[in-house]
Amino acid sequence: MKKRFDLAVIGGGAAGLACAVSAAESGCKSIAVIDRMNRIGKKLPVTGNGRCNLSSRNISEDFYHGSFNVKPVLEEYPDLRPFFEGLGMYTFCDSAGRIYPLSNTASSVLDALRLGAEKSGRVGIFTEARCTSIAESENGFIIKAGEHEIHCGAAVLACGGCAAAVHGSDGSGFSLAEGLGISVSKPYPALCSLLADGTKTLEGVRSKCGASLFVDGQLEKRERGEVQFTKSGLSGICIFNLSAALPDGEKNAVVSLDLLPDHTLHDVYEMLLSVRRNRSGNLPEEMFSGIFNRKIALFLLKKAGISPSVRTDAPDYTDLKRLAALTKDLKFKITGRADFSGAQVTAGGIAGSEIDESLMSRKIKGLFFAGEIIDVWGDCGGYNLHFAFASGIKAGKAAAKLLSEKEKSHDKNQRNHHADKL
Ligand SMILES: Cc1cc2nc3c(=O)[nH]c(=O)nc-3n(C[C@H](O)[C@H](O)[C@H](O)COP(=O)(O)OP(=O)(O)OC[C@H]3O[C@@H](n4cnc5c(N)ncnc54)[C@H](O)[C@@H]3O)c2cc1C
Repeated sequence: MKKRFDLAVIGGGAAGLACAVSAAESGCKSIAVIDRMNRIGKKLPVTGNGRCNLSSRNISEDFYHGSFNVKPVLEEYPDLRPFFEGLGMYTFCDSAGRIYPLSNTASSVLDALRLGAEKSGRVGIFTEARCTSIAESENGFIIKAGEHEIHCGAAVLACGGCAAAVHGSDGSGFSLAEGLGISVSKPYPALCSLLADGTKTLEGVRSKCGASLFVDGQLEKRERGEVQFTKSGLSGICIFNLSAALPDGEKNAVVSLDLLPDHTLHDVYEMLLSVRRNRSGNLPEEMFSGIFNRKIALFLLKKAGISPSVRTDAPDYTDLKRLAALTKDLKFKITGRADFSGAQVTAGGIAGSEIDESLMSRKIKGLFFAGEIIDVWGDCGGYNLHFAFASGIKAGKAAAKLLSEKEKSHDKNQRNHHADKL
């Protein structure tokens, strides 16, 4: 079925929906939102554990990685409240600066965007419409999506990346871009668990830690928070953030955990000495249960070469020094990362060099990009959704402006043509 729209937005996720609303607000008369899933915005309701951490009070480019320069987008849209309040949705900020919908329910965010798009009366939604080709035409683009053939003056690629394909983003946006000769930096999973040797016996333990990522012996990133030990490695928000800074295919990566980040090495040693005094006669495995989780105590003892269940007089001073050192610097060799199904975002994507300041392709006029499809990814804490929304709003506004300029120049040409005839 052939249809004509001023603007086609491919991908009805966070970026695509914000883009459609913004384009309508900026005067674009007809917008098609095309999505391969049976409903738009399927990922939004599962974000932030069902609460949608949609932005942060501390928005800054320091929290982003990748080849795209986020600064101009963040400077133009440092605060999403005016946009969402204009759609009737309010927010609150928690003590860590994370911003959530006031309803504390992720689906509110999707509702705000969906209702905003509906209310404009300018947005047509096409679901179960997987876009398989974009071709340039005389007046813009011809897009094939499911049974539809959509002709449009401008298009926005907002298909997301490869993370969590079950919610829609399966990487097909990258193939569409490459088909148009646009370069894509190799995608790989980010904000995900890291695979590590030797965590099996700690499976299920959660511990408040300092966590530092070293690559080739150089410190890449330091985080603090709860680390979750799994059968195959390390997880938890602070590990997700370390994964965002770990280059793809890196072979020489080590995560060092500080198991007692509020205590200095000296404090830990003193504490161990005092435990040794107060619990003399106990088995080593019992001795440290007042400091560490039991599984961690066993793990540390084994690493320090102290038999947990052989009653000796007590660990000697050298043993305690070793234990204290391990407590502050417990190293795990990183052997890989979780795959896309377990990742929150995609690292890599449309190369920054392909995109101009208005988020339009430098090669193809009228083709814009928004959201995770771009080679930029943020840390946990609302940074990824903030960029998705902000880039969507910006791309929608820029596309509407381009279309209006195109229309004006078309009208002018028509008038000149008419005048010539007279
Ligand atoms: C479990 C989970 C929790 C998260 N929680 C948070 C959080 O709390 N805060 C935060 O900042 N970030 C969070 N993120 C990351 C955030 O959700 C994404 O970065 C953001 O949704 C990206 O928006 P997007 O619109 O670019 O892509 P997406 O939201 O992935 O949307 C892309 C859309 O394009 C459609 N599509 C793809 N290919 C095609 C095609 N060929 N044709 C037609 N349609 C297509 C998809 O169906 C999808 O609807 C989370 C991610 C996950 C997986």
